[in-house]
Amino acid sequence: MNLAHHVPDSARAHPDRPALRIEDTAVSYRALDRSTARMAGLLRDRGVKPGDRVALMLPNVPEFAVVYYGVLRAGGTVVPMNPLLKSREVAYYLGDSGARLLFAWHDFADEAHAGARQTDAEAVVVRPGALDELLEPASPLDELTERHDDDTAVILYTSGTTGRPKGAELTHANLARNCDIVAGELFRLTADDVIFGGLPLFHAFGQTCTLNAAVASGACLTLLPRFDAAQALGILDAHGVTVFAGVPTVYSRLVRQPGRESHDVSRLRVCLAGGAELPVQVLYDFQAAFDCVVLEGYGLSETSPVVSANTLRAGPRPGSVGTPIPGVRVRVVEQGAEVPRGETGEIAVRGHNVMKRYWQRPEETAATIRDGWLYTGDLGRVDQDGYLWIVGRKKDVIIRGGYNVYPREVEDVLYEHPAVADAAVIGLPDPDLGEEVGAAVVLRPGARTTAEELRAYVKGQVAAYKYPRKVWIADTLPKGPTGKILKKEIVPPAIR
Ligand code: AMP
Repeated sequence: MNLAHHVPDSARAHPDRPALRIEDTAVSYRALDRSTARMAGLLRDRGVKPGDRVALMLPNVPEFAVVYYGVLRAGGTVVPMNPLLKSREVAYYLGDSGARLLFAWHDFADEAHAGARQTDAEAVVVRPGALDELLEPASPLDELTERHDDDTAVILYTSGTTGRPKGAELTHANLARNCDIVAGELFRLTADDVIFGGLPLFHAFGQTCTLNAAVASGACLTLLPRFDAAQALGILDAHGVTVFAGVPTVYSRLVRQPGRESHDVSRLRVCLAGGAELPVQVLYDFQAAFDCVVLEGYGLSETSPVVSANTLRAGPRPGSVGTPIPGVRVRVVEQGAEVPRGETGEIAVRGHNVMKRYWQRPEETAATIRDGWLYTGDLGRVDQDGYLWIVGRKKDVIIRGGYNVYPREVEDVLYEHPAVADAAVIGLPDPDLGEEVGAAVVLRPGARTTAEELRAYVKGQVAAYKYPRKVWIADTLPKGPTGKILKKEIVPPAIR
């Protein structure tokens, strides 16, 4: 189950097919295989041994794939980092993972060098089109370094449910099996497919569902370094994208993008949404506009990432995150015991996708994985047919005067309002109730409405204790690298 096998295997089967595409440049499987073998040779020459960590600070460019698979080919462990990290954060990730080598894209060289200087790591700057020069002195390492299925392939940094970022150790088997299921069960990929590569590759969703799935299938990944709806539409059309994966914000931006109708997106056959809740209205709008089914899935970094998904075979159920993927079990737990079907509790996961552990954090590992079950910190319920519905995050529950309000439910109502582009429901401190329900809303361009009107709209549709007493209209909402709204960073205005 060595992930590094995917490159030479696809190179043998489809040497001349494009593995990666960026703008007008394509990289064939043969070329990707040669470059990763050289990269592995370079790493070996620099003393990288099996299990050594090598960090990456690269955007979605072909060089990401070369370094990623090169490290795996040499038997190393990849530590992908968000390229936008500042030097302090770079130093934290390098120090924590013990990576001695960092490959950084030229745009981020200053922060990478400054971060590396605070540790004993060395930053190697990667410039566009200059990889061959960097790899030139190395003799290729054609033989793959053998790794066991449960050896760590990638360490993904994530905050998990609490605390500072920690490294989720994902093994070769974790990632290879998740990738197999995504490529087979969800996407039914063949070498003729073209996958949209706009999800950040340093994140679990992009890595498994776009890069690894494409390379394992001999398909083409068409890269977009920074998401932009107009450029994405251009790529869908010009490159004939057949498979799309994205976070909810990307779906709503594509639906709203002016000039959308002039693009031919008729080759699109399946879309996967995940990473955050996809408002049902956005799903319907996208399906109507793009004439393509959208499958929502659920997962987290610690589960490689896919836990459950809607599938074409089982029949998608909009609003739910589908059924657990093969080999994975989901249990809904409240105070240590499984709750009856239909009731809400914390989602726990068991199966081949569960990480090995948090890197060098035995206590946090023991708190998260108990008796073989990974406790996600997400709240959900399983319906009578076995579909999982996400209700919110454990810590995301607003407790208003003793009543639990799940923000997701209120957000769904807001998203149904025609003027709403983005909505986040959060708890506000309240001397009387403990917490009051607040909602920050971003309006669609040109939309006209007031906070008062939105408040009344929700009030008409949910139980009295749930509607947001305080609604405010914001220009934007803070978002993470995958487009997920960062609720903790929302600053409510001082409203009465
Ligand atoms: P990350 O580790 O960055 O991938 O974040 C994982 C978290 O994203 C999960 O624990 C969930 O809270 C959230 N998440 C992922 N997919 C969904 C989904 N389809 N609906 C709601 N929340 C989701």
